[in-house]
Amino acid sequence: MPLIDGKTGIVFGVANKRSIAWAIAQAWAREGAKLAFTYQGERLKENVAELAGTFGTDTLILPCDVTRDEEIAAVFKTVEERFGKLNLLLHSIAFAPKDALEGEFVNTSREAFRVAHDVSAYSLVALARAAAPLMTDGGSIVAMSYYGAEKVVPHYNVMGVAKAALEASTRYLAYDLGPKKIRVNCISAGPVNTLAARGIAGFTEMLKHYEAHAPLKRNILPEELGATGLFLASDGAAAITGQVVYVDSGYQIMGM
Ligand code: NAP
Repeated sequence: MPLIDGKTGIVFGVANKRSIAWAIAQAWAREGAKLAFTYQGERLKENVAELAGTFGTDTLILPCDVTRDEEIAAVFKTVEERFGKLNLLLHSIAFAPKDALEGEFVNTSREAFRVAHDVSAYSLVALARAAAPLMTDGGSIVAMSYYGAEKVVPHYNVMGVAKAALEASTRYLAYDLGPKKIRVNCISAGPVNTLAARGIAGFTEMLKHYEAHAPLKRNILPEELGATGLFLASDGAAAITGQVVYVDSGYQIMGM
């Protein structure tokens, strides 16, 4: 029997077929979940519609810029009308102005700091708050993080600080929503060649570094993120909440 048969979910952060969100969405759909997708701005609508359309022409696709409260409210209103209840939510969204992802962190502007935290961390709080009333049978919320949250990764800069806020938010949300049987976890992924990743100066070097230094001596595959996303969505993870799960070929355990 499929692992998450009959569950409903919403996926934030598919930009194209390389997106981590797409890898997790495919795993969720394959194991029986009915999914809705969001896109930011008309620019990406066609991409998302084409990908999501592979799950059926009636797949729900909605606009959502996560910095806009009215768009978040509209998304969850439509999801409630269409699905009734919600079991799964994937937060796979991050953004920082490009000039903040090169050079020195000390030069991060107030505005770049604000935008990075609004889009990449606060959005999880806003989405969890809107989703919780629909998760009447409990639920699983999964967000994507990176090791730059806890150690200095050159060029990752303000995004590392925003990921630290995301991971801390995960723990506080897990505490608040636990009594409603809603679990909130992060997957901390090793580098994957996506649109967002290519915005980080020196990203190709990062891939080489992981291959050389991670215990498994290789980079991760998107489908491995799909498998972990599926695990966190399933009853196999029923007692796991507030955690950061590393899918990074073991890189995080290394001291040198
Ligand atoms: P991606 O395909 O570019 O996905 C990033 C998504 O965030 C895009 O769909 C993007 O839409 C969306 N987004 C940005 N600002 C938004 C806003 N204001 N409202 C709504 N959506 C917005 O890149 P990805 O690598 O899969 O990133 C997904 C997540 O994984 C991110 O949280 C990232 O930090 C995390 N992660 C990535 C890696 C990696 O190496 N790739 C490693 C660890 C963690 P637009 O394209 O329209 O901006």
